[in-house]
Amino acid sequence: MKLSENIFFAIRSRRLQSLLISVYNLRLFLVRYGPYYWICKYRYQRWDMFSKCDLETLQRQRMAKFFSSASLSYTKFFGVKKYTVDQDVYEYLSYLPVLTKRDLIENKSPRRLLDLFSIKSSTGGTTGASLVVKYKFKDVQDRQAYLDFWRGKYGWKIRSRTAWFSGKNIVSKDDLEAEEFWKTDRLFNIRYYSTFHISHQSFHKYLDNLDAWNMEFIVGFPSTIVELAKFGLDHGRKYKGTRLKAIFPTAESITSEIRSILLDYFGVDCRDQYASSEGAPFITECPAGRLHIQIHTGVFRIQNNGELLVTSFSTGRTPLINYDIGDVIELDSSTIGPCDCGSHMPIAEKIIGRKSETLPTPMGNLNLGNISNTTKGVQGIIQFQVHFKDLYNLKIFMVVSSNFDKDSERKFIENWRNRIGQEVNLELTRVGSIERSSSGKFQMIVHETT
Ligand SMILES: [Zn+2]
Repeated sequence: MKLSENIFFAIRSRRLQSLLISVYNLRLFLVRYGPYYWICKYRYQRWDMFSKCDLETLQRQRMAKFFSSASLSYTKFFGVKKYTVDQDVYEYLSYLPVLTKRDLIENKSPRRLLDLFSIKSSTGGTTGASLVVKYKFKDVQDRQAYLDFWRGKYGWKIRSRTAWFSGKNIVSKDDLEAEEFWKTDRLFNIRYYSTFHISHQSFHKYLDNLDAWNMEFIVGFPSTIVELAKFGLDHGRKYKGTRLKAIFPTAESITSEIRSILLDYFGVDCRDQYASSEGAPFITECPAGRLHIQIHTGVFRIQNNGELLVTSFSTGRTPLINYDIGDVIELDSSTIGPCDCGSHMPIAEKIIGRKSETLPTPMGNLNLGNISNTTKGVQGIIQFQVHFKDLYNLKIFMVVSSNFDKDSERKFIENWRNRIGQEVNLELTRVGSIERSSSGKFQMIVHETT
C-alpha cells in the first residue's frame, strides 16, 4: 500500500482511515480490471488444458511477441543484435546476457524510452536497496487476470470475503487503544490484519475477530497465519468460521508442517504460488497439490545448481529476460504425462527461496536449501530461525509442536552437525513465536554481528 503513512495516520478518524483504504483499492481496481483483463482471463481459461505440444507452441508465440517489443531496449543496453522473426526464440534467449538484480537496483536495466503510462512497482528486497520495475497497464491486467483465474479454481471471486495479513502498517494508536489490530475495506470486503501486533496478550482478539469476520479466504504471510493457528491449537480453541475455502500464502515458502497446522486449525488447505514482486512468471499449486510452472506466463531456465533465470512476458516496460531472480527451485522429473488435475504444465518439486541468504560455517557457506533441509526426517518443527554470531557460535530459535520429541531433537542436531561440523557451538531454544523483519517477512537467517 503506497498511501503515505504520514497522511494516513494524520487523519484521526478511524472510519475515514478505512475509507481511504477503500479509495486506494478502488484506484488499484480501476487499473487492474480494464478491458484487457477480461480478454486475458478468458485466454487463461482456454489455455489451461492445452496439450504439451500446444503449450510449447503458445510459449514460443508469446516469447516471439515479447522479444519483438523488448529487443530494441536490449539492443541499446547490451549492444546485442535485434530479434528478427525468422530466428529461433530459444536460441535468441540463450544468446542474450543475464540480467542481474544489481542492474535493476542501479537503474541500469534496459528500459523503454517512452515511459509515460507506466505503473511503478518498487520492492525493498532483503538488502533494503530499492528496486523499481515498471509495467504497462496491459501487463498489470494480464498478471491480475492470471492470478484471479488461478484463485478462481478455489472459488475466489472479486469481493469474496477475505482476511489479509501483509507487512503494511495500517493500525493507528487509537486502534491499538481500542485493541483493534485490523482495518476493513467494506467496498472490496477485505479485512487487513496487522502482522506486527500478534502477542500472548492479543492473539485471542485476533482469533475472535477471525471467527466473527467469517471469511472465505485468507491471504498473506504464512509465518503469521501459522502463529495464530498454533496459538489457537495450543489453547484448545476451535476456529468457528463456517465459510473458509482456502488459504493463499504469499511472499514466503511454506513447509509441510505449516500446512498441517493450518489444516488442523482452519480446516482448509493452503494453495501455494510463486511470483516475485519484480514480476516473474507464475508457479501455482493445482487442486491435486502439485506446483505447476506456468510456461505461458514466461520462461524458467534452471541452471545446474538449481538457480533460476526467468523471462517474464508481462514486463513490457522493464523487460526481464534471463533475469537472475535469486531464487532456487527443484524440478520434479519423475512425473510423466499430465498431472492428476489434467494439466500438462511442468511440475516444480519445491520452491526453496532466496539463494542470496547464506550462512557462513567453518565448512563453507550453507545455502537456504541446505538449511531448510535440516528438518528432513524431523517431526514437529513449525519454524526455525538461525542466529549467526560468529563462525563458531550459532543459536537456533524454534517454534515446535507437540510432535517434537527427543528423537526429533537428536535428528535435527545430527542434520545440523552434518552441515556445520563438530566445532561449532550450537544452541537450541524453543520459543512461542519468532519475530519478523521490519518488512513483516519471516527471515530464516539473522546476522547478529552487523
Ligand atoms: Zn496438477
